[in-house]
Amino acid sequence: MQRYFIQQASIPLKLQLEPEIFKHAIKVLRLRVGDHFELVDTQQQVAEMKLIAIDGLQATAERLNVSKPQVELPVNVTIACGLAKNAKPEIIVQKATELGAARIIFFQGEYSIARWQPAKMEKKLQRLQKVAQAAAEQSHRTRIPAVDFYAKLSDLPFRDYDLKLVAYEEAAKEGESHIFRKFTDKLLLEKRQQTPNLLAVFGPEGGISAAEIDFLQQQGCQSAGLGPRILRAETAPWYLLAALSFALELG
Ligand code: SAM
Repeated sequence: MQRYFIQQASIPLKLQLEPEIFKHAIKVLRLRVGDHFELVDTQQQVAEMKLIAIDGLQATAERLNVSKPQVELPVNVTIACGLAKNAKPEIIVQKATELGAARIIFFQGEYSIARWQPAKMEKKLQRLQKVAQAAAEQSHRTRIPAVDFYAKLSDLPFRDYDLKLVAYEEAAKEGESHIFRKFTDKLLLEKRQQTPNLLAVFGPEGGISAAEIDFLQQQGCQSAGLGPRILRAETAPWYLLAALSFALELG
C-alpha cells in the first residue's frame, strides 16, 4: 500500500490531502474513491486511510485504523560519509534509508575530490532530503532520516553519540576484525532504557587521511575493519547497516 509522511503529530478522522500527496496519489497513482493508502505522522504512527471524495484539486480521506509498527533499527545509526563524486551521495542516501539509517551526514574529507559550491548547498540538501523521504516511504519506514552537510570533519556532533567508530581501510588491511563485532555484541547484550546512538564515519573514494584518523580517535571513534575486501565509498556504509540488521533484528 502506498505510504506518505505528514508533518502532524496525529492524523485526524477526516483529512484533506496536502497538495504534494494529492499530486502523487491522485494524478500519478490515479487512486480513486474507495482506494486505501497509509499516512505516517511525526509520532511514527501509521494510519490506514480510505479516499472518500475527490473534487477538482481536492481530495478527502477518512482514517480507518492506527498502528505503531516497530520497523526501525533498535539503534539510532548516523552514517557520516566523506563527500563522494557525482550521484554517489544520492545512492548512499537512498540505500542507507532503506537499510535503516537514522541520520546521514556528508562532510568534506581531506581526500574528497567532490566539492559542493556553497551557493548550491541548500538545493543539494533539499534534493537529498527528498530522496530520503521517497526511500522511507518505499521501504515502509516510520521515520525519514535527516540529511546534513558539514564543511569540516571537526564540526561533526561527536558528543551526541555514546558509540562511535570509524570504518578504516588500513585497519581492514591489517586484519582488524573485532571492533565492529564487539559493538554489535554490546548492543545485543546491553538492555538500555533509551535507544543507543551510534556514529559510524566513512571516508570518500580516496579514503581517510592519517590526520583524520588521529582526530577521530581523539573524539572516541574506534578504528574498525569491515572485512578483508576494500569496499567502495558507497558500499561500506551499506555493509555496516546490513550487518547491524543481521546481528540485531534476525534470529
Ligand atoms: N582508497 C582507499 C584504498 O585504496 O585503500 C579505499 C577507500 S574506500 C573506497 C572508501 C571508504 O570506505 C574508506 O575510507 C572506509 O571508510 C570504507 N571502507 C572500505 N572498505 C573497508 C573495509 N574493508 N574496512 C573498513 N572500512 C572500509
